[in-house]
Amino acid sequence: MPEDEDSMVVERPDDIEVPPPSEPYTLIEPFEFFNDSSGISKKCLIILNQSIRDMNLRRLWPNTRLHICADGGANQLYDYFEHENERSKFVPDFITGDCDSVTNEVKQYYILKGTVVIPQYSQYSTDLTKSLMLTKIYFHSETLRLKLYEGIEPDNGLSELGQHLEVSVATPVYVYMLGGIGGRFDQTIHSINQLYKLNQSDPHLQIFFVSHSDMIFLIKKGLNYIQYERKSLFNTSKKAPICGLLPLSNTPITLNTHGLKYDVINWTSSMVGNVSSSNGICGTNGFIVNATDDIVMNASIDHY
Ligand code: MG
Repeated sequence: MPEDEDSMVVERPDDIEVPPPSEPYTLIEPFEFFNDSSGISKKCLIILNQSIRDMNLRRLWPNTRLHICADGGANQLYDYFEHENERSKFVPDFITGDCDSVTNEVKQYYILKGTVVIPQYSQYSTDLTKSLMLTKIYFHSETLRLKLYEGIEPDNGLSELGQHLEVSVATPVYVYMLGGIGGRFDQTIHSINQLYKLNQSDPHLQIFFVSHSDMIFLIKKGLNYIQYERKSLFNTSKKAPICGLLPLSNTPITLNTHGLKYDVINWTSSMVGNVSSSNGICGTNGFIVNATDDIVMNASIDHY
């Protein structure tokens, strides 16, 4: 693919200061998940059915207010702890999904500890999307939230309840998903698919997938400032933490960045052309991405 004539790649030192843009921008704060001292009012943790062994759950759990296990995610949570006295301190608020994976033993255990189980047998949505619907209801309507504890029609009740939802809140809900990426490939692609689709249907939900090695999220069309208190919050490497800008939609995207190891200027990226992988994060408190369309980003994390 021919390069744009004025496109450029500029190499930066590992640490540079990048202040927020002076024009209006979208603020993205993926690494607030690791910030033990940040406010937790609208943060949710969703555990999907994939091993979470490598996650520092003990530290990350208190950083979110709402805890949901998507079906077999409850088994993963249960198995994470070896000792009962510790396990009993990490009880999810809800278990939802089609309940074809959560074991009876695990389900009964959490019910006795106070977890509300909301089975949703419909096969027209996944355990992941059911958990997200639950998150929306929980944070966006106090009236509908109460209904979650009163019994929900077990086929598609959450989705029907969600139809009555009026989302007029300007403050985003931060949703951190454990286990959506890096396991079964169709599930990984479903997760990416959700990143794109939810940004269209529910832009107030800021979705962050957390794997044992990466934080994966969507950079939105337009000017974005990705902000954090300090890089060591999510990556303790002395070098610039590895990142990638991944154009997984079907349109070519023109990128301008400031604060990456290899900053790009008027650089066109697509799955049949250039992809900025193995890049690095240099901005000490943030970096800027200006994109002509939504694009997926991964940033390498080591939160141990
Ligand atoms: Mg299931």
